[in-house]
Amino acid sequence: MEKDKNFCPICKCNFIDDQPIKLSVTNLYNCSHCGVVFAKPNFHNPNKDFFDSYQVDQWLKYYRMFRKKSHKQFVEKHKELFKNGISVLDIGCAAGWFLDEVKRKFSTAITVGMEPSPFMKDKINKSYLIYWFGAEQLGKVKGKFDMVTLWNVFEHFSDPHKIIRLVTTKIKRNGYLVLSVPNQKGLISRIAYFLARISGGILSMPLEELFQTDNAFGHLFHYDRQSLSKLLGKNDFKVLWCEGVDIVDVSNVRQRLKVTTNHGDEIKQQALATVVAQLTRIASVTDFQDEIVVATRKI
Ligand SMILES: [Zn+2]
Repeated sequence: MEKDKNFCPICKCNFIDDQPIKLSVTNLYNCSHCGVVFAKPNFHNPNKDFFDSYQVDQWLKYYRMFRKKSHKQFVEKHKELFKNGISVLDIGCAAGWFLDEVKRKFSTAITVGMEPSPFMKDKINKSYLIYWFGAEQLGKVKGKFDMVTLWNVFEHFSDPHKIIRLVTTKIKRNGYLVLSVPNQKGLISRIAYFLARISGGILSMPLEELFQTDNAFGHLFHYDRQSLSKLLGKNDFKVLWCEGVDIVDVSNVRQRLKVTTNHGDEIKQQALATVVAQLTRIASVTDFQDEIVVATRKI
């Protein structure tokens, strides 16, 4: 019974981690077998919305530029994944920025989104078919797609295997699944874990931020390339490639800090922005970026 308490939700092994990192609303356990870090207990509040914790206008102002830029780069760099007439389902599409970039490059693409937050209802291109619910209700989505994407949402799900199984039913044979998640082995992440561990939990603010514990739907998992590949492989997806991407827009970190209100005064914000931007630049040239994008094919 004691061992079941520390059952890894990803690789299903019984690992031993008797020193979890304690955060304000949960504890972080590390699986010594697959390497994933997961939050337990689940601190999600299903009665709230993801955007309740943010100043939505600031969130949109920052992320519209950042995500559109990175999605544009992705579509241009990996155009071999696309073709005219491609059908794309973007789960957790927010304001539809990935679909915009696909449509801009491939005008005949079929663009479909899923988004549970009503905050985004008047932000999305009205010509797209949008299902206004979350991934747990994927069974209600009609048809199958050439590509399913989850940009910066997969780390929020409490049962990743279940979501992947649902996603599988919506992808055509040989279709693609592309997802991006925070990278546990990124430079900023490594520093955050190091600070929390050596201080006995006193310096846990960076980890609180990385897990978005002030959000009703913060992160429940922190993957790396190994644990993510293991999860996808177990669900019959062949990993084509995995690449690091920046966690913030280095030219606009001040704007990112304005999305949440807990970063102190102007001087503190400026100092923090400088540190985060420099670390992100170092991570980029050393291949220790704090997000990863993985492209897989359904086999
Ligand atoms: Zn594991």
